[in-house]
Amino acid sequence: MSIQKKIVLLTTLWLIGILLAVNVTVYFAFLRITTQNEKDLFMNRVHTLLEKADPADLISGKSTELLQSYLPDQGMIRLLDKEGKVVQTVQNDSDLLPLKTETIKHSETEVYYRGESAVLLVRVPIHSGSDTIGSIEMAEKLDPLEDNIRILISILALSSLGAIGLSLIGGVYLSRWILRPISGMVRTMEQIEKSLAFHRIPLSEGSKDELGALAATFNRMIDRLEGNFVRQQQFVSDASHELKTPLTIIEGYANMLRRWGLKDEAKGKEAVESIHSEAVRMKQMTQQLLDLASSEQERFLKVENVELVTVCEQTARLLSKTHRREIEVISSSEEITAEVDASTVNQLLLILLDNAIKYSKDKIELNVSEKTDPVSGKHGVEIRVKDYGIGIPQEELSRVFERFYRVDSSRHRKTGGTGLGLAIAKNMIRHHGGTIDLASEVNAGTEVIVFIPSL
Ligand code: ADP
Repeated sequence: MSIQKKIVLLTTLWLIGILLAVNVTVYFAFLRITTQNEKDLFMNRVHTLLEKADPADLISGKSTELLQSYLPDQGMIRLLDKEGKVVQTVQNDSDLLPLKTETIKHSETEVYYRGESAVLLVRVPIHSGSDTIGSIEMAEKLDPLEDNIRILISILALSSLGAIGLSLIGGVYLSRWILRPISGMVRTMEQIEKSLAFHRIPLSEGSKDELGALAATFNRMIDRLEGNFVRQQQFVSDASHELKTPLTIIEGYANMLRRWGLKDEAKGKEAVESIHSEAVRMKQMTQQLLDLASSEQERFLKVENVELVTVCEQTARLLSKTHRREIEVISSSEEITAEVDASTVNQLLLILLDNAIKYSKDKIELNVSEKTDPVSGKHGVEIRVKDYGIGIPQEELSRVFERFYRVDSSRHRKTGGTGLGLAIAKNMIRHHGGTIDLASEVNAGTEVIVFIPSL
C-alpha cells in the first residue's frame, strides 16, 4: 500500500474514532440533562397543583377542573387514597391507564418505556396537616424529547459523515502535496539508476522542512559520491600512466635483448640491469599504490599509549643504518607518551625520513615534543623532520601533497620517488585528526611539521 493511501486511511480511521467518542458523549450528556430537566419541571408542576388545591377536596374528587387545567398534553393525572386505591383519573391518552399504582411515603419520579415511547411518571404524597391522606400521580409521554433525540442523532450522523468525507478529500490532497517532493526524489533516483549519471534533486526555494533536509542530504551524498568517483577515475588513469613509463622501458630493453643480447654481452648486461631496476621500481610503486588506496579509506584506528621518543629513536636508528645517514633525534623530554595509532606514526616517520634521505645529503633532525594545538585546543605531539637538502620551490609547496606529483620528475628517476609518499601521509594524518605542514627553501632544506592529537 502506498504511503499516500496509508496516510489517508489512518487519518480517516483516527477521525472516525474521535467522532464516535464525541458523538456517544454528546448523546448521553444530552439525554441525561434533558431528562433531568423534564423531571424537575414535572415535579414543580405537581407541587404547584397541590399548592392551589385543597387536599380534602382533591382526594374526594371535587377538583376535576383544576386537574384538567394541569393535565399534560399526552398525559394522565391520578388520585389515590391512603390504601393506594384509585379515586379519580383524568387523562387524554388512554395508553397511560395501565400504569401500575403504588402507595408511597415520599415524592418520586420514574421513566418507563412503553413500546417505542418513554413515559415520565411523578408520584407525590398528599398531606392534610400532619396526615398523609393519599397521593397524586402525574404521567406524560416524552414524545417531544424522543423527537429531539432523534433530531440530535441525525445531526450527529450527518455532520460526522460530512467530516469523514471532507477528511478523506483533504487527506488525499494534503498527502499528495506533502509527498510531492518524495515522488520527485524517487524519479531522480530512478534516473540515476538508469543512466548511472550523478543527478541532483532540484531544491525548491525556502524548503526548510524535513523533506527539504532529506533532499539536501541526498544531494550532498551525490556530491561526495561523484567526487569519489572522479577521484577514482583520476587515480586509475594516473596509476596506469605512471606504470606505463617503466613498462615501456622494460619493453625497449627486452627488444634490445632479443636482438643483441645473446651476441653482445655488454648490451645484454645493460638491458638485464635496466629491466631489473625498472621492475624493482614498479614493485615499489605498486606497494605504494596499495598503501594509498588503503589510506584513502576510512579505517579503524587502534589507539594505544605510545612512548614516542623510543619509537622515533628506533626508526631513526634503522634508517640511519640501512642508508648510512646521520639522523639526530631531539626530544623536549626523555619520555613523551600519547594515545595514538602506532602504525600511523610508524608509517609517517618512514615516509618523512625517506624523503629527507632522498632529497638531502647532510644530517637529518627528527624533533619530537608535546604540543597543544592553538586552534582546536587538542593535546598531542608534534613531530618535525628537518633536512638541509635541495628544498622545494615556494610555488610547488601546496602541490607536493597531490598524488604522483613530483617537483622535477626528471630528477626523480634517480631517487626512485613515486610522488605518492606525501599523499599517503596526508590521508593518514587526516584520519587521525591531525595536521601536516611544510616549510622549505630551495637549496637550504625542508622541514615537515606534523601534529598528531591524542585520541
Ligand atoms: P616521492 O616518492 O616522489 O618522494 P612524495 O609524495 O613523498 O613522493 O613527495 C612529493 C614530492 O615532493 C617529491 O617528489 C619531491 O619533489 C618533493 N619532496 C618531498 N619531500 C621533500 C624533501 N624533504 N626535500 C625536497 N623535496 C621534497
